[in-house]
Amino acid sequence: MNTVYPIIPLIEQRAAAAHVSHRADAATSEALGYPGEPVENWQALAIARLGELVAGNRALRVFMDTCTRCGACTDKCHYYLGTRDPNNMPVARQELLRSVWRRYHTWSGRWLPWLVGARELTREMLDDWYRYFHQCSECRRCAVFCPKGIDTSELSMAGREILATVGLGQRYTQTIVEKAGRIGNNLGLKPAALRDVLENLEEDILDETGVAVRLPLDEPNREILVVTPSADFFAEPHVDGLIGYAKMLHAAGVSWTFSSHASEAANFGLFNGNLDQERELAARLVEAVYVLGVSRLVIGECGHAWRVAGERLPSLIGDLSILIKGRAEHLCELSVELLDSGRITLDPARNAGVVATYHDSCNIARGAMMGERADGAFELPRRLLRAAVPTLVEMADGTTRRETFCCGGGGGLLSDELMPLRVQGAEPRARALRRVVERDAVTHLVAICAICKTQFGSVLPAHDLERVRVTSLHALVGDALVLDAPAVPMPGPDGIEPADTATEPAR
Ligand code: SF4
Ligand code: SF4
Repeated sequence: MNTVYPIIPLIEQRAAAAHVSHRADAATSEALGYPGEPVENWQALAIARLGELVAGNRALRVFMDTCTRCGACTDKCHYYLGTRDPNNMPVARQELLRSVWRRYHTWSGRWLPWLVGARELTREMLDDWYRYFHQCSECRRCAVFCPKGIDTSELSMAGREILATVGLGQRYTQTIVEKAGRIGNNLGLKPAALRDVLENLEEDILDETGVAVRLPLDEPNREILVVTPSADFFAEPHVDGLIGYAKMLHAAGVSWTFSSHASEAANFGLFNGNLDQERELAARLVEAVYVLGVSRLVIGECGHAWRVAGERLPSLIGDLSILIKGRAEHLCELSVELLDSGRITLDPARNAGVVATYHDSCNIARGAMMGERADGAFELPRRLLRAAVPTLVEMADGTTRRETFCCGGGGGLLSDELMPLRVQGAEPRARALRRVVERDAVTHLVAICAICKTQFGSVLPAHDLERVRVTSLHALVGDALVLDAPAVPMPGPDGIEPADTATEPAR
Protein backbone atom coordinates (compact mmCIF):
# COMPACT_ATOMS: atom_id res chain seq x y z
CA MET A 1 0.00 0.00 0.00
CA ASN A 2 1.33 3.44 -0.82
CA THR A 3 2.12 5.74 2.03
CA VAL A 4 -0.13 8.73 2.54
CA TYR A 5 2.91 10.98 2.76
CA PRO A 6 5.27 12.42 1.54
CA ILE A 7 3.22 15.50 0.90
CA ILE A 8 5.55 17.94 2.54
CA PRO A 9 4.08 21.41 2.86
CA LEU A 10 5.97 24.56 2.00
CA ILE A 11 7.05 26.28 5.16
CA GLU A 12 5.23 29.35 6.39
CA GLN A 13 7.26 31.17 9.05
CA ARG A 14 5.44 31.43 12.40
CA ALA A 15 2.19 30.16 10.93
CA ALA A 16 1.31 28.58 14.29
CA ALA A 17 2.55 31.44 16.46
CA ALA A 18 -0.97 32.46 17.42
CA HIS A 19 -1.71 29.11 19.07
CA VAL A 20 -0.84 29.79 22.70
CA SER A 21 -1.95 27.75 25.71
CA HIS A 22 -3.59 29.54 28.61
CA ARG A 23 -1.34 30.14 31.59
CA ALA A 24 -2.04 28.45 34.89
CA ASP A 25 -3.60 30.53 37.64
CA ALA A 26 -1.48 31.50 40.60
CA ALA A 27 -3.23 29.30 43.17
CA THR A 28 -2.80 26.15 41.10
CA SER A 29 0.86 26.81 40.34
CA GLU A 30 1.58 27.54 43.99
CA ALA A 31 -0.22 24.39 45.09
CA LEU A 32 2.21 22.46 42.89
CA GLY A 33 5.20 24.26 44.38
CA TYR A 34 5.83 26.71 41.52
CA PRO A 35 5.71 30.51 41.55
CA GLY A 36 2.20 31.84 40.96
CA GLU A 37 3.41 34.62 38.67
CA PRO A 38 6.41 35.04 36.35
CA VAL A 39 9.43 35.75 38.52
CA GLU A 40 11.72 38.77 38.08
CA ASN A 41 14.95 36.76 37.85
CA TRP A 42 13.42 34.42 35.28
CA GLN A 43 16.50 34.33 33.05
CA ALA A 44 18.96 33.21 35.73
CA LEU A 45 16.44 30.75 37.15
CA ALA A 46 15.63 29.23 33.76
CA ILE A 47 19.30 28.84 32.82
CA ALA A 48 20.05 27.21 36.16
CA ARG A 49 17.07 24.84 35.92
CA LEU A 50 18.08 23.90 32.37
CA GLY A 51 21.54 23.00 33.64
CA GLU A 52 20.07 20.91 36.46
CA LEU A 53 17.73 19.01 34.17
CA VAL A 54 20.43 18.22 31.61
CA ALA A 55 22.87 17.16 34.35
CA GLY A 56 20.24 14.91 35.94
CA ASN A 57 18.99 13.18 32.80
CA ARG A 58 21.50 11.19 30.78
CA ALA A 59 19.21 10.96 27.75
CA LEU A 60 18.74 14.72 27.71
CA ARG A 61 22.49 15.20 28.00
CA VAL A 62 23.04 12.96 24.98
CA PHE A 63 20.27 14.69 23.01
CA MET A 64 21.99 18.04 23.57
CA ASP A 65 25.10 16.86 21.75
CA THR A 66 24.18 14.33 19.10
CA CYS A 67 21.92 16.03 16.54
CA THR A 68 23.72 16.15 13.19
CA ARG A 69 21.01 18.24 11.52
CA CYS A 70 20.48 15.48 9.01
CA GLY A 71 16.90 16.59 8.48
CA ALA A 72 15.32 13.14 8.72
CA CYS A 73 12.83 14.36 11.32
CA THR A 74 11.75 17.57 9.61
CA ASP A 75 8.60 16.21 7.95
CA LYS A 76 7.66 13.69 10.65
CA CYS A 77 5.74 15.88 13.07
CA HIS A 78 1.99 16.16 12.56
CA TYR A 79 2.06 19.74 13.85
CA TYR A 80 4.53 20.77 11.18
CA LEU A 81 2.57 18.89 8.52
CA GLY A 82 -0.65 20.47 9.72
CA THR A 83 0.54 24.03 10.42
CA ARG A 84 3.51 24.50 8.03
CA ASP A 85 5.29 26.37 10.81
CA PRO A 86 8.99 25.37 10.65
CA ASN A 87 9.28 25.81 14.42
CA ASN A 88 7.15 22.68 14.60
CA MET A 89 9.81 20.65 12.81
CA PRO A 90 11.25 18.46 15.58
CA VAL A 91 14.81 19.62 14.99
CA ALA A 92 13.72 23.26 15.19
CA ARG A 93 11.75 22.59 18.37
CA GLN A 94 14.84 20.98 19.86
CA GLU A 95 17.01 23.92 18.81
CA LEU A 96 14.87 26.27 20.89
CA LEU A 97 16.26 24.55 23.96
CA ARG A 98 19.56 23.26 22.64
CA SER A 99 20.82 26.62 21.34
CA VAL A 100 20.21 28.21 24.75
CA TRP A 101 21.85 25.31 26.55
CA ARG A 102 24.86 25.70 24.27
CA ARG A 103 25.05 29.44 24.97
CA TYR A 104 25.17 29.14 28.76
CA HIS A 105 26.42 25.63 29.46
CA THR A 106 29.20 25.00 26.92
CA TRP A 107 32.61 26.61 26.46
CA SER A 108 32.15 27.19 22.73
CA GLY A 109 28.70 28.70 23.24
CA ARG A 110 30.01 31.13 25.86
CA TRP A 111 32.97 32.36 23.79
CA LEU A 112 32.03 31.69 20.16
CA PRO A 113 28.22 31.74 20.14
CA TRP A 114 27.96 32.81 16.49
CA LEU A 115 30.08 29.82 15.45
CA VAL A 116 28.01 27.13 17.16
CA GLY A 117 24.51 28.52 16.79
CA ALA A 118 24.20 29.48 20.44
CA ARG A 119 21.40 31.89 21.31
CA GLU A 120 20.56 34.20 24.19
CA LEU A 121 17.63 33.43 26.43
CA THR A 122 15.63 36.57 25.69
CA ARG A 123 12.03 37.25 26.63
CA GLU A 124 11.11 36.50 23.00
CA MET A 125 12.87 33.17 23.23
CA LEU A 126 11.08 32.38 26.50
CA ASP A 127 7.75 33.16 24.83
CA ASP A 128 8.65 30.85 21.96
CA TRP A 129 9.48 28.14 24.45
CA TYR A 130 6.02 28.52 25.96
CA ARG A 131 4.39 28.59 22.54
CA TYR A 132 6.19 25.67 20.84
CA PHE A 133 6.81 23.33 23.76
CA HIS A 134 3.04 23.40 24.08
CA GLN A 135 2.69 22.55 20.41
CA CYS A 136 4.40 19.20 20.93
CA SER A 137 2.14 16.33 21.98
CA GLU A 138 5.21 14.39 23.16
CA CYS A 139 4.18 11.64 20.76
CA ARG A 140 7.77 10.53 19.96
CA ARG A 141 7.07 9.91 16.28
CA CYS A 142 10.10 11.96 15.30
CA ALA A 143 12.33 9.72 17.42
CA VAL A 144 11.35 6.70 15.31
CA PHE A 145 12.92 8.32 12.25
CA CYS A 146 15.93 9.99 13.88
CA PRO A 147 19.11 8.00 13.18
CA LYS A 148 20.42 9.18 16.56
CA GLY A 149 17.24 8.24 18.39
CA ILE A 150 16.71 11.78 19.64
CA ASP A 151 13.36 12.01 21.42
CA THR A 152 12.01 15.54 21.08
CA SER A 153 9.40 14.86 23.74
CA GLU A 154 12.17 14.80 26.37
CA LEU A 155 13.18 18.31 25.36
CA SER A 156 9.60 19.54 25.35
CA MET A 157 9.06 18.09 28.81
CA ALA A 158 12.22 19.76 30.09
CA GLY A 159 11.14 23.03 28.50
CA ARG A 160 7.75 22.87 30.21
CA GLU A 161 9.32 22.15 33.58
CA ILE A 162 11.65 25.14 33.19
CA LEU A 163 8.73 27.36 32.22
CA ALA A 164 6.77 26.26 35.29
CA THR A 165 9.84 26.95 37.44
CA VAL A 166 9.85 30.61 36.36
CA GLY A 167 6.07 30.99 36.88
CA LEU A 168 4.86 30.13 33.39
CA GLY A 169 2.93 26.90 33.94
CA GLN A 170 0.26 25.74 31.53
CA ARG A 171 -3.30 25.87 32.86
CA TYR A 172 -4.71 22.65 31.45
CA THR A 173 -2.02 20.25 32.68
CA GLN A 174 -1.37 21.98 36.01
CA THR A 175 -5.06 22.10 36.87
CA ILE A 176 -5.40 18.40 36.19
CA VAL A 177 -2.28 17.39 38.12
CA GLU A 178 -3.36 19.45 41.11
CA LYS A 179 -6.86 17.97 41.09
CA ALA A 180 -5.68 14.39 40.60
CA GLY A 181 -3.17 14.74 43.45
CA ARG A 182 -5.76 16.23 45.81
CA ILE A 183 -8.83 14.14 44.97
CA GLY A 184 -7.56 11.12 43.06
CA ASN A 185 -8.82 11.75 39.54
CA ASN A 186 -8.72 14.36 36.80
CA LEU A 187 -12.45 15.08 37.05
CA GLY A 188 -12.37 15.84 40.78
CA LEU A 189 -14.88 13.07 41.39
CA LYS A 190 -15.11 12.27 45.11
CA PRO A 191 -15.70 8.69 46.33
CA ALA A 192 -19.43 9.13 47.06
CA ALA A 193 -20.03 10.66 43.64
CA LEU A 194 -18.03 7.91 41.97
CA ARG A 195 -20.09 5.29 43.76
CA ASP A 196 -23.29 6.96 42.52
CA VAL A 197 -21.97 7.01 38.97
CA LEU A 198 -21.11 3.32 39.09
CA GLU A 199 -24.48 2.36 40.59
CA ASN A 200 -26.28 4.30 37.86
CA LEU A 201 -24.22 2.52 35.24
CA GLU A 202 -25.09 -0.83 36.79
CA GLU A 203 -28.77 0.06 36.44
CA ASP A 204 -28.22 1.11 32.81
CA ILE A 205 -26.54 -2.20 32.01
CA LEU A 206 -29.31 -4.14 33.75
CA ASP A 207 -31.95 -2.22 31.75
CA GLU A 208 -30.08 -2.82 28.49
CA THR A 209 -29.11 -6.47 28.93
CA GLY A 210 -31.26 -7.89 31.71
CA VAL A 211 -28.00 -9.05 33.35
CA ALA A 212 -26.89 -7.81 36.77
CA VAL A 213 -23.37 -6.69 35.99
CA ARG A 214 -21.53 -5.18 38.95
CA LEU A 215 -19.11 -2.28 38.97
CA PRO A 216 -17.46 -2.88 42.34
CA LEU A 217 -15.70 -0.06 44.17
CA ASP A 218 -13.17 -0.42 46.98
CA GLU A 219 -13.99 -4.09 47.55
CA PRO A 220 -11.00 -5.75 49.23
CA ASN A 221 -9.35 -9.06 48.48
CA ARG A 222 -10.42 -9.17 44.86
CA GLU A 223 -7.97 -10.55 42.35
CA ILE A 224 -7.74 -7.56 40.05
CA LEU A 225 -7.71 -3.80 40.52
CA VAL A 226 -8.82 -2.03 37.34
CA VAL A 227 -7.65 1.57 37.03
CA THR A 228 -9.10 3.43 34.13
CA PRO A 229 -9.05 7.02 32.91
CA SER A 230 -11.78 8.90 34.75
CA ALA A 231 -13.21 9.95 31.39
CA ASP A 232 -14.48 6.35 31.21
CA PHE A 233 -16.96 7.10 34.00
CA PHE A 234 -18.73 9.88 32.11
CA ALA A 235 -17.53 10.91 28.70
CA GLU A 236 -18.82 9.70 25.37
CA PRO A 237 -17.77 7.42 23.75
CA HIS A 238 -15.48 6.38 26.62
CA VAL A 239 -18.23 5.17 28.94
CA ASP A 240 -19.34 2.59 26.39
CA GLY A 241 -15.87 1.09 26.70
CA LEU A 242 -16.24 0.88 30.49
CA ILE A 243 -19.60 -0.81 30.09
CA GLY A 244 -17.97 -3.19 27.61
CA TYR A 245 -15.20 -4.32 29.90
CA ALA A 246 -17.52 -4.53 32.90
CA LYS A 247 -19.72 -6.90 30.90
CA MET A 248 -16.65 -8.86 29.80
CA LEU A 249 -15.31 -9.25 33.35
CA HIS A 250 -18.75 -10.33 34.51
CA ALA A 251 -19.12 -12.90 31.74
CA ALA A 252 -15.69 -14.33 32.56
CA GLY A 253 -16.39 -14.49 36.29
CA VAL A 254 -13.41 -12.31 37.10
CA SER A 255 -13.00 -11.06 40.66
CA TRP A 256 -12.19 -7.38 40.36
CA THR A 257 -12.74 -3.90 41.76
CA PHE A 258 -12.22 -0.21 41.06
CA SER A 259 -10.56 1.98 43.70
CA SER A 260 -11.69 5.43 44.83
CA HIS A 261 -8.12 6.20 45.90
CA ALA A 262 -6.68 5.28 42.51
CA SER A 263 -9.61 6.42 40.40
CA GLU A 264 -7.46 7.83 37.61
CA ALA A 265 -5.13 6.02 35.26
CA ALA A 266 -4.02 9.16 33.45
CA ASN A 267 -0.88 10.84 34.77
CA PHE A 268 -0.29 14.37 33.51
CA GLY A 269 2.88 14.59 35.59
CA LEU A 270 4.49 12.85 32.61
CA PHE A 271 3.37 15.60 30.25
CA ASN A 272 4.72 18.29 32.57
CA GLY A 273 8.15 16.72 32.71
CA ASN A 274 7.99 16.71 36.50
CA LEU A 275 9.09 13.39 37.99
CA ASP A 276 7.82 14.25 41.47
CA GLN A 277 4.31 14.93 40.16
CA GLU A 278 4.41 11.78 38.06
CA ARG A 279 5.66 9.68 40.97
CA GLU A 280 3.06 11.05 43.39
CA LEU A 281 0.20 10.20 41.04
CA ALA A 282 1.66 6.80 40.13
CA ALA A 283 2.08 5.96 43.82
CA ARG A 284 -1.70 6.02 44.25
CA LEU A 285 -1.96 2.94 42.00
CA VAL A 286 0.44 0.93 44.13
CA GLU A 287 -1.05 2.21 47.39
CA ALA A 288 -4.45 0.96 46.24
CA VAL A 289 -2.94 -2.44 45.35
CA TYR A 290 -1.66 -2.80 48.93
CA VAL A 291 -4.78 -1.45 50.62
CA LEU A 292 -7.19 -3.58 48.62
CA GLY A 293 -5.00 -6.69 48.67
CA VAL A 294 -5.24 -7.41 44.95
CA SER A 295 -2.62 -9.37 43.04
CA ARG A 296 -3.10 -7.88 39.58
CA LEU A 297 -3.15 -4.24 38.48
CA VAL A 298 -4.89 -3.73 35.14
CA ILE A 299 -4.83 -0.41 33.31
CA GLY A 300 -7.79 0.56 31.14
CA GLU A 301 -7.98 2.36 27.82
CA CYS A 302 -5.55 5.28 28.23
CA GLY A 303 -2.40 5.75 26.18
CA HIS A 304 -0.01 7.65 28.38
CA ALA A 305 -1.38 5.92 31.49
CA TRP A 306 -0.11 2.72 29.99
CA ARG A 307 3.27 4.26 29.29
CA VAL A 308 3.55 5.31 32.94
CA ALA A 309 2.19 2.08 34.43
CA GLY A 310 3.61 -0.33 31.87
CA GLU A 311 7.04 1.17 31.39
CA ARG A 312 7.89 3.73 34.04
CA LEU A 313 6.25 2.37 37.20
CA PRO A 314 9.23 0.28 38.37
CA SER A 315 11.63 3.23 38.09
CA LEU A 316 9.11 5.60 39.68
CA ILE A 317 7.99 3.37 42.55
CA GLY A 318 10.38 0.43 42.78
CA ASP A 319 9.61 -3.18 43.52
CA LEU A 320 6.31 -4.50 42.15
CA SER A 321 6.66 -8.09 43.28
CA ILE A 322 3.36 -7.78 45.13
CA LEU A 323 1.80 -8.13 41.68
CA ILE A 324 1.57 -11.67 40.43
CA LYS A 325 3.39 -10.80 37.20
CA GLY A 326 5.72 -8.32 38.89
CA ARG A 327 4.28 -5.59 36.68
CA ALA A 328 1.09 -3.86 35.69
CA GLU A 329 -0.99 -5.36 32.89
CA HIS A 330 -2.95 -3.74 30.12
CA LEU A 331 -6.66 -4.41 29.83
CA CYS A 332 -6.11 -5.76 26.31
CA GLU A 333 -3.75 -8.40 27.71
CA LEU A 334 -6.41 -9.53 30.15
CA SER A 335 -9.11 -9.50 27.48
CA VAL A 336 -7.06 -11.63 25.08
CA GLU A 337 -6.26 -13.99 27.97
CA LEU A 338 -9.99 -14.38 28.65
CA LEU A 339 -10.74 -14.84 24.96
CA ASP A 340 -8.00 -17.39 24.32
CA SER A 341 -8.87 -19.40 27.42
CA GLY A 342 -12.51 -19.59 26.40
CA ARG A 343 -13.75 -17.58 29.37
CA ILE A 344 -15.49 -15.18 27.06
CA THR A 345 -17.06 -15.71 23.68
CA LEU A 346 -17.22 -12.95 21.08
CA ASP A 347 -19.61 -13.09 18.18
CA PRO A 348 -18.67 -10.57 15.47
CA ALA A 349 -22.12 -10.98 13.91
CA ARG A 350 -23.41 -8.95 16.86
CA ASN A 351 -21.49 -6.02 15.36
CA ALA A 352 -22.92 -6.60 11.87
CA GLY A 353 -22.21 -3.71 9.51
CA VAL A 354 -19.18 -2.46 11.44
CA VAL A 355 -16.14 -1.81 9.26
CA ALA A 356 -13.45 -0.84 11.74
CA THR A 357 -10.02 0.66 11.46
CA TYR A 358 -7.65 0.85 14.41
CA HIS A 359 -5.75 3.94 15.50
CA ASP A 360 -2.51 3.06 17.30
CA SER A 361 -2.20 5.60 20.09
CA CYS A 362 1.28 7.12 20.40
CA ASN A 363 1.99 6.28 24.00
CA ILE A 364 1.01 2.66 23.44
CA ALA A 365 2.69 2.21 20.06
CA ARG A 366 5.90 3.95 21.10
CA GLY A 367 5.64 3.93 24.87
CA ALA A 368 5.51 0.47 26.37
CA MET A 369 5.26 -3.19 25.52
CA MET A 370 1.98 -4.98 26.00
CA GLY A 371 2.02 -8.60 27.15
CA GLU A 372 4.97 -10.87 26.51
CA ARG A 373 5.25 -10.40 22.74
CA ALA A 374 7.45 -7.64 21.35
CA ASP A 375 4.63 -6.65 18.99
CA GLY A 376 1.90 -7.04 21.62
CA ALA A 377 1.06 -3.34 21.65
CA PHE A 378 0.04 -3.66 18.01
CA GLU A 379 -1.28 -7.20 17.87
CA LEU A 380 -3.29 -7.66 21.07
CA PRO A 381 -5.78 -4.86 20.32
CA ARG A 382 -6.08 -6.10 16.73
CA ARG A 383 -6.59 -9.68 17.94
CA LEU A 384 -9.55 -8.48 20.01
CA LEU A 385 -10.94 -6.37 17.20
CA ARG A 386 -10.78 -9.21 14.69
CA ALA A 387 -12.75 -11.34 17.13
CA ALA A 388 -15.30 -8.60 17.80
CA VAL A 389 -16.14 -7.12 14.39
CA PRO A 390 -16.80 -8.57 10.95
CA THR A 391 -14.26 -6.38 9.14
CA LEU A 392 -11.02 -4.72 10.21
CA VAL A 393 -9.06 -2.69 7.67
CA GLU A 394 -5.72 -0.99 8.09
CA MET A 395 -4.81 2.58 7.33
CA ALA A 396 -1.79 3.20 5.09
CA ASP A 397 1.67 1.95 5.89
CA GLY A 398 3.67 4.65 7.58
CA THR A 399 0.64 5.86 9.53
CA THR A 400 0.08 2.91 11.86
CA ARG A 401 1.92 0.85 14.46
CA ARG A 402 5.27 2.41 15.42
CA GLU A 403 4.86 5.07 12.75
CA THR A 404 1.36 6.01 13.81
CA PHE A 405 0.34 9.65 13.68
CA CYS A 406 -0.76 11.36 16.86
CA CYS A 407 -4.44 12.27 17.17
CA GLY A 408 -3.27 15.88 17.59
CA GLY A 409 -4.53 16.32 21.16
CA GLY A 410 -2.04 14.40 23.29
CA GLY A 411 0.62 15.63 25.67
CA GLY A 412 -1.64 18.08 27.48
CA LEU A 413 -2.88 19.95 24.41
CA LEU A 414 -6.54 18.93 24.69
CA SER A 415 -7.67 22.39 25.77
CA ASP A 416 -10.27 24.52 24.04
CA GLU A 417 -7.96 27.43 23.24
CA LEU A 418 -5.77 25.09 21.22
CA MET A 419 -8.63 23.77 19.08
CA PRO A 420 -7.32 25.34 15.83
CA LEU A 421 -3.94 23.67 16.44
CA ARG A 422 -5.65 20.40 17.34
CA VAL A 423 -7.57 20.45 14.07
CA GLN A 424 -4.40 21.13 12.10
CA GLY A 425 -2.41 18.54 14.05
CA ALA A 426 -5.01 15.88 13.28
CA GLU A 427 -4.64 16.42 9.56
CA PRO A 428 -2.18 13.56 8.84
CA ARG A 429 -4.33 11.04 10.74
CA ALA A 430 -7.50 12.38 9.10
CA ARG A 431 -5.91 12.05 5.66
CA ALA A 432 -5.12 8.37 6.25
CA LEU A 433 -8.57 7.78 7.72
CA ARG A 434 -10.30 9.46 4.80
CA ARG A 435 -8.56 7.12 2.42
CA VAL A 436 -9.96 3.98 4.10
CA VAL A 437 -13.38 5.58 4.49
CA GLU A 438 -13.49 6.20 0.74
CA ARG A 439 -11.86 2.91 -0.26
CA ASP A 440 -13.27 0.46 2.30
CA ALA A 441 -16.35 2.25 3.64
CA VAL A 442 -14.93 2.32 7.17
CA THR A 443 -17.64 3.11 9.71
CA HIS A 444 -15.73 3.04 13.02
CA LEU A 445 -12.42 4.50 14.16
CA VAL A 446 -11.35 2.43 17.15
CA ALA A 447 -8.97 3.67 19.83
CA ILE A 448 -7.76 2.62 23.28
CA CYS A 449 -6.82 6.07 24.53
CA ALA A 450 -9.14 8.51 26.32
CA ILE A 451 -7.41 11.54 24.81
CA CYS A 452 -7.58 10.14 21.27
CA LYS A 453 -11.30 9.45 21.62
CA THR A 454 -12.07 12.95 22.89
CA GLN A 455 -9.83 14.57 20.30
CA PHE A 456 -11.23 12.63 17.35
CA GLY A 457 -14.79 13.31 18.43
CA SER A 458 -13.97 17.03 18.42
CA VAL A 459 -11.88 17.39 15.28
CA LEU A 460 -13.10 14.83 12.75
CA PRO A 461 -16.07 17.03 11.74
CA ALA A 462 -13.57 19.74 10.74
CA HIS A 463 -12.01 17.19 8.40
CA ASP A 464 -15.39 16.25 6.91
CA LEU A 465 -15.29 12.88 8.68
CA GLU A 466 -18.16 13.32 11.11
CA ARG A 467 -19.84 10.20 9.75
CA VAL A 468 -17.05 8.04 11.18
CA ARG A 469 -17.97 6.79 14.63
CA VAL A 470 -15.19 7.08 17.21
CA THR A 471 -15.35 4.00 19.43
CA SER A 472 -13.68 2.37 22.41
CA LEU A 473 -12.25 -1.03 21.59
CA HIS A 474 -14.01 -2.52 24.60
CA ALA A 475 -17.33 -1.04 23.54
CA LEU A 476 -17.15 -3.29 20.48
CA VAL A 477 -15.93 -6.17 22.65
CA GLY A 478 -18.91 -5.63 24.95
CA ASP A 479 -21.32 -5.48 22.02
CA ALA A 480 -19.91 -8.72 20.56
CA LEU A 481 -19.90 -10.48 23.92
CA VAL A 482 -22.11 -13.51 24.39
CA LEU A 483 -23.21 -12.27 27.77
CA ASP A 484 -25.86 -14.87 28.36
CA ALA A 485 -23.31 -17.70 28.20
CA PRO A 486 -22.75 -19.40 31.54
CA ALA A 487 -19.97 -17.65 33.43
CA VAL A 488 -16.89 -19.76 34.11
CA PRO A 489 -15.28 -18.77 37.42
CA MET A 490 -11.71 -17.71 36.88
CA PRO A 491 -9.07 -19.16 39.19
CA GLY A 492 -7.59 -16.73 41.66
CA PRO A 493 -3.87 -16.06 41.93
CA ASP A 494 -3.27 -19.38 43.68
CA GLY A 495 -5.53 -21.32 41.39
CA ILE A 496 -8.35 -21.00 43.94
CA GLU A 497 -11.67 -19.82 42.68
CA PRO A 498 -12.59 -16.44 44.11
CA ALA A 499 -15.47 -16.48 46.58
CA ASP A 500 -17.60 -14.05 44.60
CA THR A 501 -18.07 -14.65 40.92
CA ALA A 502 -20.46 -13.70 38.20
CA THR A 503 -23.14 -15.68 39.99
CA GLU A 504 -23.17 -13.15 42.81
CA PRO A 505 -26.50 -11.34 42.91
CA ALA A 506 -26.63 -7.65 42.18
CA ARG A 507 -26.78 -5.28 45.11
S1 SF4 B 1 16.62 13.27 12.63
FE1 SF4 B 1 17.73 13.42 14.58
S2 SF4 B 1 19.85 13.93 14.02
FE2 SF4 B 1 18.56 14.35 12.21
S3 SF4 B 1 17.99 16.53 12.41
FE3 SF4 B 1 16.36 15.38 13.38
S4 SF4 B 1 16.94 15.28 15.56
FE4 SF4 B 1 18.79 15.88 14.39
S1 SF4 C 1 7.35 14.31 19.83
FE1 SF4 C 1 5.64 14.30 18.32
S2 SF4 C 1 4.68 16.32 18.55
FE2 SF4 C 1 6.74 16.46 19.48
S3 SF4 C 1 8.09 17.16 17.84
FE3 SF4 C 1 8.18 14.92 17.80
S4 SF4 C 1 6.61 14.34 16.28
FE4 SF4 C 1 6.18 16.47 16.89
